[in-house]
Amino acid sequence: MRLVWFRNDLRCHGHTPLTQALAGGDPVIALYLLCPRQWDDHDVAPLRRWYVLESLLELGDTLAAKGIDLHVLDAGDFDGAVDTLADFVAEQGVREIFCNREYPLNELNRDRAVARRLEQYGVRLHGFDDGVLVPPRTLSTGKGTPYTVFTAYKKRWDQWMDDADPGALPAPAWPASSGASKKGRFYGRDRVEALRDGLDLPDTLTAPWQPGETAAYRQLYDFVEHQLGDYKRYRDFPAEPGTSGLSTALSAGTLAPLDAYLAARRALADSGAREGAATWIGELAWRDFYRQIMHRFPQLATGAPFRPETRLLQWHDNDAHFQAWCEGRTGYPLVDAAMRQLVRTGWMHNRLRMLTAMFLSKHLFIDWHRGERFFMQHLIDGDFASNNGGWQWSASTGTDVAPYFRVFSPIRQSHRFDPQGRFIARYVPELAELDDESIHEPWKQPLLCPDYPAPIVAHKGVKEFVQQAFRQAGDAWRQQENGQ
Ligand SMILES: Cc1cc2nc3c(=O)[nH]c(=O)nc-3n(C[C@H](O)[C@H](O)[C@H](O)COP(=O)(O)OP(=O)(O)OC[C@H]3O[C@@H](n4cnc5c(N)ncnc54)[C@H](O)[C@@H]3O)c2cc1C
Repeated sequence: MRLVWFRNDLRCHGHTPLTQALAGGDPVIALYLLCPRQWDDHDVAPLRRWYVLESLLELGDTLAAKGIDLHVLDAGDFDGAVDTLADFVAEQGVREIFCNREYPLNELNRDRAVARRLEQYGVRLHGFDDGVLVPPRTLSTGKGTPYTVFTAYKKRWDQWMDDADPGALPAPAWPASSGASKKGRFYGRDRVEALRDGLDLPDTLTAPWQPGETAAYRQLYDFVEHQLGDYKRYRDFPAEPGTSGLSTALSAGTLAPLDAYLAARRALADSGAREGAATWIGELAWRDFYRQIMHRFPQLATGAPFRPETRLLQWHDNDAHFQAWCEGRTGYPLVDAAMRQLVRTGWMHNRLRMLTAMFLSKHLFIDWHRGERFFMQHLIDGDFASNNGGWQWSASTGTDVAPYFRVFSPIRQSHRFDPQGRFIARYVPELAELDDESIHEPWKQPLLCPDYPAPIVAHKGVKEFVQQAFRQAGDAWRQQENGQ
């Protein structure tokens, strides 16, 4: 008996473990382990849980229609997963397990424990890397060290992808008996539905999202056909539908990164779409970059900053400021619109993630970990590697950082990336009546927007303050290192 263990890869397309397991001719069953306590530990947003559970329901139905049984078992957390899997394997007489690798620390520790346990049963484990385009240990600098600067990584990544020249995975060879006459069973469907219903989310939050691989692939092909060519031009403007919105599908694995890459690569041949496609492929490389960083610097998963000296920064502990940031009441319209977008929709545009993260960590000088956590608690695409990477980039504590003297001006960003204030007006209706100029600086028109707060901090002086704080932390670190 062969087992396909689905984890963060809730799809049948572009799924090597499934394809390989089915290639052998032996009977195949599938498994998914629910770990709600792990979700709690990892601050997984309710909306993301909903997306995963709905996608799992679709996966179970698809597998059943193809004659494959899916068993969904409640393991509680990752420790429980080891025991639950071992019992299941023994009970079902499984001889081989096929799954995709996961790279965050807790997932790695779970998999190490699984491997040790299964060895006792003589079960063979086959791991694959469909969650990334280039597996995290593949590329190293000439000195054998991991890349920590994106531009150098990307150059090597491009070469590797060109040399590998990957093609689409063959479709799985479903059992001959599949079809209406021999449907598979979906064990544990009730438990998945109960967990989903227990989330009790308002329709307004879930309605805009379409979980499952069918919707994810449709969204990919729509994006490639209609928007990819203009991606470079519009991707920084949050009022436009300029980006793919595929981060949720990629992070929950309802879409294979390889299929996303191949669709964009085909578009490179079209001169009208070439620039957009090349830029978009660069974003997929960022995704791989942060995964290799997380994998090769596992201390990041324990909360460590990438640059150790930044541990000595004396963050401000201002709860009122943090609360104002969370609620979109900082008095800076684009920051507030972005934070309200996050809470209201479970998603935020990339430019605004950078802006709001920089605002929290530089203007308010609040520890970036608090913001990282708040994002995870709300994002439907919450993903440790990309979120931690994005936060540390913005806070200037990470790899390839925005230099610490770079501080986005919330006013300038607003003029540049939301020139008519259309995005602001959508999420901050108190400002909707202001003209194109005043909407970026409403404090200049206090009589027209009485319900909107004044800025909670001034922009002026932030850069100098942050520079000094980083310099002091660096000096203190060097003294510590020299044992003074
Ligand atoms: C502070 C901060 C936190 C972030 N948290 C997350 C997160 O939890 N989950 C997440 O998936 N992305 C995160 N990102 C990256 C990025 O903002 C989102 O991936 C992007 O906004 C998703 O929109 P999209 O799918 O329309 O992207 P597109 O512009 O269409 O890009 C295509 C895909 O490339 C990947 N990608 C794009 N930009 C980045 C990036 N900077 N880093 C890594 N991958 C990228 C995503 O998978 C995305 O779906 C974060 C960025 C910052 C600055």
